[in-house]
Amino acid sequence: MCGIIGIASRKEFESNDVIKMLKRLEYRGYDSFGIATDTGLFEKEVGEVRHVSDNRCTQAIAHTRWATTGKVTKENAHPHSSCDGNITIVHNGIIDNYLELKEWLAAKGHQFKSETDSEVIAHFFEEELKTCDMRHAVEKFFALVKGEFAVLLIMKGDDMIYTFKRGSPLVLGIADGMNILASDIYAFSNRTNKAVFFSEDEFAEVSAGGYKFYKYDSQLVPLTKEIQVFEWESKESGKMQYEHYMLKEIHEEPEAAARLIDSMKYEQKEKMNELKKMIEDSKRVVFVAAGTSYHASLLGVYFLNKAGIESHAIIASEFRNFTLLDDRTLVIAVTQSGETMDVIQALHGIKGEGVKIASFVNVPYSTVQRMSNVSVNICAGQEVCVAATKTFVNQVVALSYLASLFGYENGIEKIPDKINSLLRQEEKIKGMAETLKNVRDIYIIGRGFSYPVAREIALKLKEIAYIHAEGMMGGELKHGTLALIENGTPVISLMPEGDNHIISNTKEVEARGARVIVVSNSSFDYESIKIPSEDEASFSILATVVGQLLTYHVAKEKRLPVDKPRNLAKSCTVV
Ligand code: GLU
Repeated sequence: MCGIIGIASRKEFESNDVIKMLKRLEYRGYDSFGIATDTGLFEKEVGEVRHVSDNRCTQAIAHTRWATTGKVTKENAHPHSSCDGNITIVHNGIIDNYLELKEWLAAKGHQFKSETDSEVIAHFFEEELKTCDMRHAVEKFFALVKGEFAVLLIMKGDDMIYTFKRGSPLVLGIADGMNILASDIYAFSNRTNKAVFFSEDEFAEVSAGGYKFYKYDSQLVPLTKEIQVFEWESKESGKMQYEHYMLKEIHEEPEAAARLIDSMKYEQKEKMNELKKMIEDSKRVVFVAAGTSYHASLLGVYFLNKAGIESHAIIASEFRNFTLLDDRTLVIAVTQSGETMDVIQALHGIKGEGVKIASFVNVPYSTVQRMSNVSVNICAGQEVCVAATKTFVNQVVALSYLASLFGYENGIEKIPDKINSLLRQEEKIKGMAETLKNVRDIYIIGRGFSYPVAREIALKLKEIAYIHAEGMMGGELKHGTLALIENGTPVISLMPEGDNHIISNTKEVEARGARVIVVSNSSFDYESIKIPSEDEASFSILATVVGQLLTYHVAKEKRLPVDKPRNLAKSCTVV
């Protein structure tokens, strides 16, 4: 799920300028990184993207890695080179048949320095270019290689960057005297607002002076591509007074929610109406999403079902195994980045089956947005912390607003003020976090609209606080998990006023010695956090915010790397 950058410039630039751009892609992976330039710099290291040796150059490629194949080591970090060192590549994706290719290349005498799938690309071109030119070698690559790739390839003594993609995202930024290739526009959105987006199976030759595109369909055919002028502010406000981005982003939730509500009422009003019409013309809605966005989608299902619209949510990586689609199905993708590979793969080809696609996306111009018939921007702004916080809130705001267009009553317009008032309880939540920092397991239970919230809080506790947590339906406890409740096991019960069943489930764990913590809009005789909600949608958002703050303070107490937890990346661009 790495990030890649390639620059071809008329004027010389500094290697560390490339590193600055690469840093902007670090949300895609941060276990190791590397850079190669036309003036001989070749450096790679394990760890976060950081300063490299100063080097002036006119061409460079760079990579920040999230390992898929091969351990996190310096040798496995990209770039990778051919045996003679003339060809150097960076790759985002997974080459599925790399072992087969490696065996074939090894038989021809190629020696490999890494355990990665990616290294075969450099050797493949070294081998093929012995007998044909670059375009023919690229045709062979498209024909033989299985898997996903966005590749940047440079050759000694050649001013061109050769680039080709299938599956993984790639975009060309056209800046003053400089062409920039990158995994997304964010890498260069502070330098230019002109971009050419790659589609599937495209190849381009990019130099400082220009570019040529080709489409592969058994052979390469020249292609004219449109330059798009994009609008996306990329304000770099940094962490401001906050110690971590996670806390800053939680505190931005009221403002982000207000911005989205305003946008759906005015700027995106037409889009919301178009989406409403698409839902009215469909028989059912099926959400497709992963991780936190899946939990928001479950709430979307709840809200829409309440409004009388048949809805389901399926986890993206299993989408095709667990649903049947027809031309009366509207698929709604929910994804922060719009680049989640599991979601993209789920959507591939379904338009051809007559299925319409809508989406809720935070990053404009992303692949999912471009694949959609209609796409609503959730306007949360840049989210840097790997854990989704303000984007979850805005996904839920958007979905409850959508349901309200069908008569589902909620007080979502008041949510910015309500989050603000909840944030005033941060000290109390912090105190609770101190008492939870050493626990091994936490269970969170909810019913109905608070069930997806239970799952979302559990996910936060796992990914950021490294605590084993399970978020589950209160009614399911007695069917097995209750066996794990011991004296003192913390159970967070999401208890909306009037939900008597969750009170019973809470008493069941209490009777078995659990330490019960209640999150409710009513008062109970338990250790508790009271949230100012009057409706289901607000309850679900506010209870999640409690979970976000609790997780943050537990992780901080444990001195964990809050914004960049181990083994993860923000945007999962591989399957
Ligand atoms: N499969 C390659 C590797 O493991 C690239 C991974 C990525 O896209 O981050 O090195």
